[in-house]
Amino acid sequence: MTVRRTLPQREQSLIGAWCFVDHYGPDDVSGTGGMRVPGHPHTGLQTVSWLFSGTVDHRDTVGTHALVRPGELNLMTAGAGIAHSEYSTAKTTVLHGAQLWLALPDKHRAVAPRFEHYAPPALDRDGARVLMFLGTLLGDTSPVETFSPLVGAEITLRPGQRLDIPVNDTFEHGVLVDTGSVTVEGISATSGQLVSLPTGAAQLRIEASPTKSVRVLLLGGQPLGEQIVMWWNFIGRSHEDIAAYRERWQRARDAGSDGQFGEFPEQWEDTLTAPELPNATLRPRG
Ligand code: MN
Repeated sequence: MTVRRTLPQREQSLIGAWCFVDHYGPDDVSGTGGMRVPGHPHTGLQTVSWLFSGTVDHRDTVGTHALVRPGELNLMTAGAGIAHSEYSTAKTTVLHGAQLWLALPDKHRAVAPRFEHYAPPALDRDGARVLMFLGTLLGDTSPVETFSPLVGAEITLRPGQRLDIPVNDTFEHGVLVDTGSVTVEGISATSGQLVSLPTGAAQLRIEASPTKSVRVLLLGGQPLGEQIVMWWNFIGRSHEDIAAYRERWQRARDAGSDGQFGEFPEQWEDTLTAPELPNATLRPRG
């Protein structure tokens, strides 16, 4: 699959609590084999598997079996520890989406793992199509609770459309361009690029290029204000945290279950082994 890793970057680790943004596709599954990610763990974060096209079969160690469909929020809270698998379904021909992570604030990073699903209504805002999946924007609020103040929405603009979006001026924002070309507050961006905006703006102007409609994800949130250590699929606060998570996952793989990562679904034939830790100490950032 073609993946553009737009966050974290050397210059910027976080947009609010958003700590990982991967945009992929559209990919012809007959050529790429689709998404085949065996069971693997997460800690200290939430994942959002956001699709534009295709369907993904999700299983996890809190007993969830869910189909991830385009335009629907599937929010997995790892907290103290969870493991999940993701496979695109046999009927999927084109796979296209974004993998997003949210860092949990320190006081919530060991909450009990859970999985939530929400299908937001498609709103019309001056001809723009808006799917509000987390937080509040353009007069709509997602019912899904978050652990820090943040926002997440999919917005599709008509060719040439200009949309002024009132936003929370205490938030940092990022606009991930999925299709088409835009300017965001005068900054040009095209498919797969992320425009990042600091706190202090009360309005965000997005303009679609004249010839083609544009689809973006608008992500934002209050600065996390904490340093995190992010390695493989884990988020902790220290090298020692990460080393302990890795150790427990490797033990859980051998046992097929463990108090931290829950009961493995019986459908799992394989799980991912963690890479070796680097020789250097993992450093916090953010
Ligand atoms: Mn994952």
